[in-house]
Amino acid sequence: MKNILETVSANELTSASARSDLKSRLTAEETREPIEFGSVAELMAQQVMPEDASEEAFFVADLGEVYRQYVQWHALLPSVEPFYAVKCNPDPMILHFLAKLGVNFDCASLKEIEMVLSLGVDPCRIIFANPCKQASHIRFAYENGITMMTFDNADELHKIKRIHPTAQLVLRVLTDDSKALCKLGLKFGASLDVTGTLLQTAKDLDLDVIGVSFHVGSGCYDAGAFADAVHRARFVFDQGMSLGFNLNFLDIGGGFPSPMIKNGPTFPEIAAILRTTLAQLFPPGCGVRIIAEPGRYFVSSAFTLACNVMARRMVIRDSGTTAINTDGEIVNDSAPTMDDHPAFMYYINDGVYGSFNCIMFDHQSVEPLILKRRGVYAYGEKVNDVRYDYSMWGPTCDSIDCIVKSDSLPELNIGDWVYFENMGAYTMCAASQFNGFQKSNVLYTTTEQSVLEHF
Ligand SMILES: *Cc1c(COP(=O)(O)O)cnc(C)c1O
Repeated sequence: MKNILETVSANELTSASARSDLKSRLTAEETREPIEFGSVAELMAQQVMPEDASEEAFFVADLGEVYRQYVQWHALLPSVEPFYAVKCNPDPMILHFLAKLGVNFDCASLKEIEMVLSLGVDPCRIIFANPCKQASHIRFAYENGITMMTFDNADELHKIKRIHPTAQLVLRVLTDDSKALCKLGLKFGASLDVTGTLLQTAKDLDLDVIGVSFHVGSGCYDAGAFADAVHRARFVFDQGMSLGFNLNFLDIGGGFPSPMIKNGPTFPEIAAILRTTLAQLFPPGCGVRIIAEPGRYFVSSAFTLACNVMARRMVIRDSGTTAINTDGEIVNDSAPTMDDHPAFMYYINDGVYGSFNCIMFDHQSVEPLILKRRGVYAYGEKVNDVRYDYSMWGPTCDSIDCIVKSDSLPELNIGDWVYFENMGAYTMCAASQFNGFQKSNVLYTTTEQSVLEHF
């Protein structure tokens, strides 16, 4: 069993020459037989079970999971082309794999465009889906042949006219995001009372508007929001057509959930609603190209993070009322006793300033599962033992760095390991190195052999 990165380094993925023979290096040289890559459980065991194991936190990424999500997308939304939202996780191995699968890309900045182009992706496979773009980034898009971009205000139209007058523009409309965890309508999207004026401005500037986009917001817990948004898009399509635009492009945005979503509609449920609504409002044969910008959908469940319990504090719970009086004396009604059911504060080596920034920025809640306890490997198993209340903290000196406020687990000791599933989206991409703590490394594997055919 091997980690893919033993045969290829992540940096090599961004260099064309090193990439060219990637496929042959991912199969055994002599026989051309596929190398056996381990399951997530096996790879984790390899990392944490040896006596001399490193204590650094690490991710295991399973490209097989990305592949299964890709296959499901095409099965359930065959008429919608996915453009992966790079911001969600710009991991070079993921980008390379998705590019090879034929997935296109939603980029929001010069650097994201550069990253995708460096993989050898044709510029026509990129949409610059940021409605408020820096002029130099628009210029970069112009110079590199990226034509599709979104807008939602008149100033942007004037800027685009000046820098990239031949751009193919997509009008981002405001949707009802009241049922989403990450509400994006606060920042972006033209409301339906201004779309007419905006289209008229584009017309006056002789700009080419090709279609409409929306983003229902991420963590959307109402599948109906997608249907409602498609209706709004149809309204703006008709507005545009009546102004003489030949609209033939619909971008239904992102916000499609991870398969591990705990509450809210599942992808199959959302896909079913979309199939019906799209068939009604943008039927096959109407000549409209339909795309989407899934981010978390592809990568959330593909990444599992393992962290080491590097410190802990036992909390005395029955502490009476200890206080210091104005004379500086300790006063207490009942002396603190260490009862036989203490609580624990566990400190692990990745935190809110690192991969767990998703707790702050993406409104996620995470649950530690026991990976290794008292020398015993426990991946995928329920550890049955007396449970203790605990809180879990990251490694920095800031008290905001709290991963779990309060829950219960069997007692953990220093040196034990925990793991967190579903950690692929909005985690390492926004991690900082605050306080000198490094970002966690990624090990890659695949649980689908057919993944290797796509390198
Ligand atoms: C963030 C973003 C996405 C991806 O959102 P997910 O919830 O990860 O699917 C897609 N499109 C745009 C414009 C975005 O800003």
